[in-house]
Amino acid sequence: MNRASSAESLKTTAKLAADVVAGNRRALARAITLIESTKENDEKAAESLLTTLLPRTGRSVRIGISGPPGVGKSTFIETFGQYLSELKKRIAVFAIDPSSRRSGGSILGDKTRMERLSRNPNAYIRPSPAGTTLGGVARRTRESMLLAEAAGFDVVIVETVGVGQSETAVADMTDLFVLLASPGGGDDLQGIKRGVMELADLLLVTKADGDLLPAARRAVASYQMAFHLMRPKHIGLSPKVLSVSALEGSGVAATWSEISAIHAALAADKRLLRLRAEQARRWFWSEVQSLIDEKILTDRKLAAEAQALETAVKEGTATPYGAARNLVRLILPANE
Ligand code: GDP
Repeated sequence: MNRASSAESLKTTAKLAADVVAGNRRALARAITLIESTKENDEKAAESLLTTLLPRTGRSVRIGISGPPGVGKSTFIETFGQYLSELKKRIAVFAIDPSSRRSGGSILGDKTRMERLSRNPNAYIRPSPAGTTLGGVARRTRESMLLAEAAGFDVVIVETVGVGQSETAVADMTDLFVLLASPGGGDDLQGIKRGVMELADLLLVTKADGDLLPAARRAVASYQMAFHLMRPKHIGLSPKVLSVSALEGSGVAATWSEISAIHAALAADKRLLRLRAEQARRWFWSEVQSLIDEKILTDRKLAAEAQALETAVKEGTATPYGAARNLVRLILPANE
């Protein structure tokens, strides 16, 4: 890029940053599109945009929401978002959809989801970013979240389908992780993995209305029991179990007051700061790892060398440590 066009793009980025801060939704959408772009010039502009906006981030309540397909995530987020909007809060909703990168189809992507909320001027909804790895998708979602914060959103929700690794990714970028479970038969815990339960700060039993109400009550008791048997995620903050009906609106206010209470408790003794610092630290190291992986994968010679070393390690003709050193020597500049 020559000097004139680089100055031009700096000016455009500065203007975009100012528009995002002014709360202009179209600017936010453009900014997110910019960070999702893989063009080299866009990546530079995105980096400069994020660096400019970084001091304005961090002021939202970051909520992760997960649950299996059909549990009622989008119906709940729609009702919850409308409720927050009545409280004069601005809500941004992002999604991480592990299915979209594999099959091209998306569990979370259909346009009819959260139709009312998407028309609400206090809400901003953005479907899953495209990406080939969960790490890549997670990075874009994290960065989108930072942009939404700079744009003054009070609550940021990151939603994911509970079918794999994405729960951990979401819990690792949010302040609180809310798990949704169906009333089911009441007694069984529907195979929610212990590891996923341990991520939760709050569990909501959905569809607590009509015929499902008794089952929902039983499910609440079962999940409460299960949490009692587990080590709490945060000392003194044992996860609560609430029942909600997104259709009737019951439990929605209680959900927000519980989330606010947990958030306030975490903020009061600096645990929130420490949590976010730790998340940022892990994010940094995972980016280092992905940059190294990317370098190996995109360089034909390196990829071939890595493959040969991997084979030697598998066949027992090279030690893993020795092979790793050989590979890293090829990646790093020669002046080591
Ligand atoms: P998602 O796949 O987790 O996003 O689930 P959806 O929000 O699309 O909901 C799945 C189904 O459950 C839909 O048919 C909804 O109408 C229904 N559902 C969602 N919330 C409730 C609720 O509060 N009560 C009842 N009875 N049904 C609900």
